[in-house]
Amino acid sequence: MEISYNALPPERRRTPPPKVETFGKIRTDHMFVADYRDGAWRDPRITPYGPFALPPGAACLHYGQTLFEGAKAFRHADGEVYVWRFDENMKRLNHSASVLMMPEVPEELQLEGLLRLIDLERGWCPEKPECSLYIRPLMFAVQDMLAVKPSKTYIFCIMLSPSGPYYAGGFDKAITLLITGRYHRAVSGGTGTAKCAGNYAASLRPAGHAANAGAEQVLYLDASNTYLEEAGSMNHFHVLADGTFVIPQFNDSVLRSITSLSVLELAAQGRLRARQEKIALKNFVEGLRSGEIIEAGGLGTAAVISPVNRYLFEDGSSLIVGDGKIGRHSRDLYELYSRMQFGSVPAPEGWLRRVPSYEK
Ligand SMILES: *Cc1c(COP(=O)(O)O)cnc(C)c1O
Repeated sequence: MEISYNALPPERRRTPPPKVETFGKIRTDHMFVADYRDGAWRDPRITPYGPFALPPGAACLHYGQTLFEGAKAFRHADGEVYVWRFDENMKRLNHSASVLMMPEVPEELQLEGLLRLIDLERGWCPEKPECSLYIRPLMFAVQDMLAVKPSKTYIFCIMLSPSGPYYAGGFDKAITLLITGRYHRAVSGGTGTAKCAGNYAASLRPAGHAANAGAEQVLYLDASNTYLEEAGSMNHFHVLADGTFVIPQFNDSVLRSITSLSVLELAAQGRLRARQEKIALKNFVEGLRSGEIIEAGGLGTAAVISPVNRYLFEDGSSLIVGDGKIGRHSRDLYELYSRMQFGSVPAPEGWLRRVPSYEK
């Protein structure tokens, strides 16, 4: 499908800031958009970033048929821009679409839209370590109707945001997670494996509760309050005394994090030790107490690793992880991962894709 350009004339484009210290706040000049109607994606285009016109009856505003993705591109020492594992994001977007009864977006369309958009906006990709061009694909239902059924029309869009580290303190700040049985992110048979807006709306109240209790985020349990699942926007891991990373088993209420998948693939290639298993809260707490668990944290694209140094419980008690400092294994993994993303350490075949220069 031919992607059309409706780009701003050069004199109306802004100059990218020399330094980026925020996450997700800055927008580039353009976005990629395609419309779904009459059973097909139409009019794929690169157009100035700006508001959409939506009828107040648009289905996304009422019943939450909205999904998104999150990926990153990096500027390497050769000056070129490289996208990290976007193939996985495209697959997951289509999985989320199937969960929400939305149409698939063909991978060729997602990929070409992204690469052409980044090519046009390549000046916005920061160079500094810990900085990236954050990629946000988005799809939402636009049919004007109040009946509860899948919309017949949708908008798919990709926007870009030059970003600094996710947490202002970067990797050096460890966070506290509240372990609670009071709220659940997802249940078996629900929408937990989809990256959808509704899951995030539902996470705001638990997050507020965690903040009041003195924690940064919630570590959710399964619906029976027996097993660890994940945090609101990241998977979870802990590290055993022998240096093995342990990630809770994926199931149909946990989002399959591409960062987690990458850690497991690196382990399969012998570059570190990692495995997945069903983790009972009881055993996890015992492991923290006995010192068998020496490090822990979250895994996700935004922060890569968020080290956790304390778990808080509903009764006000808490447990410190290891010696309370950020551990060597987490730091090593963070550095390996970041270096692969920045191209200073080779990444597995196919994980980085160079953004080509197109005729515009
Ligand atoms: C996006 C997300 C993650 C992290 O996934 P990555 O692909 O590693 O960015 C984890 N959990 C939830 C609920 C998420 O929405």
